[in-house]
Amino acid sequence: MEELESCLFCAIAAREALSHTIYEDAWCKVILDINPIRRGHLLVIPKQHVEAIYELEQRSYQQLMEVVQKMSKRINQRLKPKKVGMAIVGFDIDHLHIHLIPLETYHDLTSQAYLDGTVQQASRAELEKLAEQLHD
Ligand SMILES: [Zn+2]
Repeated sequence: MEELESCLFCAIAAREALSHTIYEDAWCKVILDINPIRRGHLLVIPKQHVEAIYELEQRSYQQLMEVVQKMSKRINQRLKPKKVGMAIVGFDIDHLHIHLIPLETYHDLTSQAYLDGTVQQASRAELEKLAEQLHD
């Protein structure tokens, strides 16, 4: 398994750094976020060092997403939040990690633009142009 010496999540995956592990299998590890947005905020981390979700091999991706769903159910059943949110951001640590967050309000999982109230509805023309750009 590829490992970067300076990477915190590689160290956690290799048990060289302390974490509060909720779940672990051959492909991934689920830990408690030490800076939780809400109590029960989890990080689902592939053991393989990749920076982004689109870099994962198909099988690893599928395994990871199965764990994401399983952990979402667990959060929902045991902590009973209003919703369970999921986010991939990655500005902090360059090792893919999926945030699973028990949500009590909409703003538990929104961007600064939402918080600032500067989000504007896109025009239909803009949406059509973008759809063309992103479509196969
Ligand atoms: Zn890493």
